[in-house]
Amino acid sequence: MASTTPINHPLPQEGDRGEDQWITPRNRRRVVAIAGGGPTGMALALALHHHGIPAEIFEARTQAEVRQDARVLALSDGSRQILEWLNAWPQHAATSIQRIHISHRGALGRTLLRASEMDVQPLGWVLPAEELITTLEAAISHAGIVYHEQKKVGTPRVLSRDGLKPTGRAGDTPAFALTAWAEGTVHDTHPVHDVTAHDYAQHAVLCQTHTAQPHHHIAWERFTEEGPVALLPLGNAYAVVLTCAATDAARITALSDADFLALLQQRFGTRHRFTSVTPRKNFPLGLRYRQQTVAERQVWLGNAAQTLHPVAGQGFNLALRDVWELARTLHHAPDPGCAQLLATYVRHRQLDRRGAIGFTHALIHIFASTSPPVRHARSMGLLALDLFPSLKNFVARRMIFGARAW
Ligand SMILES: Cc1cc2nc3c(=O)[nH]c(=O)nc-3n(C[C@H](O)[C@H](O)[C@H](O)COP(=O)(O)OP(=O)(O)OC[C@H]3O[C@@H](n4cnc5c(N)ncnc54)[C@H](O)[C@@H]3O)c2cc1C
Repeated sequence: MASTTPINHPLPQEGDRGEDQWITPRNRRRVVAIAGGGPTGMALALALHHHGIPAEIFEARTQAEVRQDARVLALSDGSRQILEWLNAWPQHAATSIQRIHISHRGALGRTLLRASEMDVQPLGWVLPAEELITTLEAAISHAGIVYHEQKKVGTPRVLSRDGLKPTGRAGDTPAFALTAWAEGTVHDTHPVHDVTAHDYAQHAVLCQTHTAQPHHHIAWERFTEEGPVALLPLGNAYAVVLTCAATDAARITALSDADFLALLQQRFGTRHRFTSVTPRKNFPLGLRYRQQTVAERQVWLGNAAQTLHPVAGQGFNLALRDVWELARTLHHAPDPGCAQLLATYVRHRQLDRRGAIGFTHALIHIFASTSPPVRHARSMGLLALDLFPSLKNFVARRMIFGARAW
């Protein structure tokens, strides 16, 4: 693990702004600087606040830009519990999932996970990322946490009143006890070059659709050779996540409504008839993760630590468990950047993190394969899931509680 020299430490320097805004020398040793004011960064600031650790958020964009997030998130009930604890659960915008139907087009076998059969109720929740962000912002403001807009943190630059400027002199001391990176991307430009990447050469096309029949709180995950299609119940509509080859993404996104509905129908099959669709947006998909999620006085969380394929809806769920564990570990710590505490955090997160990365990566490989033995095993696997309640219960709990399912 590389250590960070002060010149690379991407921290705001005192004197760059009035002291009323910056942390003073006396108290700054306990403050955590959070780089990235998206859902992970805001959830972390709130969790630290609950554990008696002050934090400030530095966000590269304006809050209005951060709010414009077209993603729709499927969250576990465990995530709902964490967000409720943070006073940031947008109940009004959440639709419950009571059943999840998993199948593969053109193959035998399917499985149905039912909340009524599991000892979890409901299986999960669906909500627009925008609503979550708005609720988190309100909680941040209510807690009095400072949120600096348009303040990009990065090496080798530091923050100043006017935005970015070159780093300070060698020998500058870090202004904060800890920098928590919640910048939403796994960069390999930071001091530690230990990024693992898999390019699935896929994009997700997102939109919402109405169907002739009501959704009855059923989520659908349908695997096809072209990639998975997920339908998530949202209000009285369905949020669609249609995965396609990267080379097809622009064309599919630009299809007319009628042509897109025809494509969706062909990919999904006949269990629902789609009647209308909203404009489409697309996102590139891949897997990127850091081997090391801490370095000297730094920690990476959420998508900055691991960016997953959304197939199993694990990304933000995993981020919230990172947040929960880090804040719990740092509880009232006199020095939140203490190396021993960071090592404890890493140890506690290892199993869940590796499990979620491996689970998601395996799903993509197993369901994308066209080889006959894998197709056969896949059908058998879905049948087995349906026939063995304990196995099914395990998969549901893995998706809902992460490593706590073990
Ligand atoms: C199509 C799709 C569907 C998904 N579905 C699900 C799902 O169903 N369930 C689920 O749990 N997860 C899902 N995810 C994952 C989920 O969206 C992410 O895990 C979550 O949004 C990540 O939040 P974040 O705060 O870590 O990153 P972001 O939301 O990307 O926020 C990072 C913020 O950091 C700012 N920033 C970047 N660099 C800097 C810097 N140097 N200094 C200051 N600020 C900086 C950015 O401007 C941004 O606002 C999905 C993802 C995709 C792409």
